[in-house]
Amino acid sequence: MDSIIAQTSSGSSTLVPEDRMSQLRSTNILGVRIHNVTMGETLAHLERMALSGSRHYLATVNAEWIVRAQHDELFRTIINGASLSIPDGMGVLLASRLLGQPINERVTGVDTVRQFAAVASRKNLRIFMLGSAPGVAERAARALEEENPGLRIAGTYSGSPDPREDEEIRRCIEEVNPHVLLVAYGAPKQDFWIHRNLPHLKVSVAIGVGGTFDFIAGVTPRAPLWVQSIGLEWLHRLVQEPRRWRRMMALPKFVIYVLLARLTGSHATKPNTTSSAGK
Ligand code: UDP
Repeated sequence: MDSIIAQTSSGSSTLVPEDRMSQLRSTNILGVRIHNVTMGETLAHLERMALSGSRHYLATVNAEWIVRAQHDELFRTIINGASLSIPDGMGVLLASRLLGQPINERVTGVDTVRQFAAVASRKNLRIFMLGSAPGVAERAARALEEENPGLRIAGTYSGSPDPREDEEIRRCIEEVNPHVLLVAYGAPKQDFWIHRNLPHLKVSVAIGVGGTFDFIAGVTPRAPLWVQSIGLEWLHRLVQEPRRWRRMMALPKFVIYVLLARLTGSHATKPNTTSSAGK
């Protein structure tokens, strides 16, 4: 059973024992831990984390992340220290089946944010939206508020993932004291940002959400459901944003790594889960 280490707001680390989150089922794909959760479970855990007063990091893992984690040890350590790692990509689901540790459901960052906005509106949870191009987070915030009457997004800020801006951004966030911080700088910049800054913030949950604000604001159209269901959302995105082709080279690599792992059984290595994302 994986145990989760969370950091309290005072900065000290506390193990959360006998906690429901510590009983989450997880799958190991090429040394990266991913939780086998449904959307319903993700929302429930997110709400609990948001109200916990501790600091938690939620990772939205896809095939590109796993390929990067093969050579970027810090990135792998950050993902494996997440309180919750959701299976964001269809590639993750297919790989989990090939490796004999099937994950049941795809849970994307964008769907999680959209559905969590309804929870936040009911429970009066404050959300801060950091990142994306100037104006996009504001538009996404207005869209979420329109979809969820009663929801007030606590703040938005475009900023930059450059560490020289960290302090100023933290000041902006602290002014409105949010429960949940969404960081849209793309992986791995957003996740490194969270790793550096979460210990200095009084935020209960930070999530790296990639292009979520672009989708919600309508800047990037989301693939139709049938395209998503056959696992080709990546292709739809490539057609929309051809500049992504270089990044897409990770996908054939992912297939090769997974097939090799299946042949050799090497995926069974236990991922490093000892670090806290809040560090
Ligand atoms: N982004 C940003 N600053 C940067 C790099 C990226 O604000 O220095 C934003 C970008 O505008 C987009 C988001 O990060 O809204 C996600 O980028 P990307 O599409 O690369 O992320 P993915 O969804 O593939 O993780």
